[in-house]
Amino acid sequence: MSTSYLAKHVEELKPSGIRKFFDLASKMENVISLGVGEPDFVTPWNVIEASYHAMEQGYTAYTANAGLLVLREEISDYLSNSFSLRYNPENQILVTVGASQAIDLALRAIIDQGDEVIVVEPCFVSYSPAVSLAGGVPVTVSATPENEFKVMPEQVEAAITSKTKAIVLCSPNNPTGTVLSEKELAAIAEVVKKHDLIVLSDEIYAELSYGEMATSIAAVNGMMDHTIVISGFSKSFAMTGWRLGYAAGPVEIIKAMTKIHQYTMMCAPTMAQHGAIEALRNGNESVKEMRTSYKQRRNFVVKALNEMGLACHLPGGAFYVFPSVKATGYSSEEFAQMLLEEERVAVVPGHVFGESGEGYIRCSYATSIKQLDEAMKRMNRFVQKHCK
Ligand code: PLP
Repeated sequence: MSTSYLAKHVEELKPSGIRKFFDLASKMENVISLGVGEPDFVTPWNVIEASYHAMEQGYTAYTANAGLLVLREEISDYLSNSFSLRYNPENQILVTVGASQAIDLALRAIIDQGDEVIVVEPCFVSYSPAVSLAGGVPVTVSATPENEFKVMPEQVEAAITSKTKAIVLCSPNNPTGTVLSEKELAAIAEVVKKHDLIVLSDEIYAELSYGEMATSIAAVNGMMDHTIVISGFSKSFAMTGWRLGYAAGPVEIIKAMTKIHQYTMMCAPTMAQHGAIEALRNGNESVKEMRTSYKQRRNFVVKALNEMGLACHLPGGAFYVFPSVKATGYSSEEFAQMLLEEERVAVVPGHVFGESGEGYIRCSYATSIKQLDEAMKRMNRFVQKHCK
């Protein structure tokens, strides 16, 4: 085919660096994967049952574009009880196809061609491509290991130009597990308010916090009008395959997002929405059990990594650790590639999450203690062999 029918801006998008490692690992046997960013738990049974039950009763048609009102009411109550955020379920909450769609809609609703969006790295690999696809220009700011991968307000301020429209923040963070405190969020909020920006606050890991419950930047005084809260059911309720998320924010923005959603998606899956109602009503105990288990695994993995000589801070949330591999003298990519080939352990090189991730690897501990134990033994053998 001599003619390329592809749009230039799509051709120019780089493929995700995570994919490359999955593809390599999938061709090998006996691989322990610490690469995947999803829970190893199955969705709680009461949630599955509620979804079955809804289907048995014939709830198989479209819902309202914004999602079932009952679900939006449950989300509104949850945000109010957990973060003291008051959103009107009628016009300030939109149910989406995963947090992924909420991010995409939020960016498309606010970006004019050429608008700049500050993306704090290391971060979830989708943010910058989503900004580009919406016609915007991602401007990356690097959170550094010296600051425990927490972005400093001065860094945000220094990246602002006359074209800056928004900033994407994620706490607890993927890939570092770092959680921003109320005070740290308040300091960033000052910059946001001063320059009249919008924050896309990705809070999908909020329930997976192992110290104090993570706080929302929207709860900082005066920030409700400057924040689009993005969250969902994938991580906290082990519902990645259900594809259900949501956005909460100022009326005008949610209205604009709903308009795009209406033309491009109609609504999020009906059966998943019924399951999500049950998750919010009666899923608390399951979340607590999963959180306790993740915390145990986090402690186990952090201890093992530090003992083998890979410096690793204790992350406050999500289900990732982000140890340094600098002591080995290898780049992140070399370390990950050799570890996979020699010991059959799949991790993700830190640079795929942004420049400041170089010298680090992301290991997901959302896998059984037995598997984690074996993975740590293999990694230890690898590090002792290569680190003289
Ligand atoms: N945001 C972050 C930080 C993530 O890590 C992920 C998934 O890995 C998502 C959003 C996407 O979540 P969902 O499955 O709800 O689309």
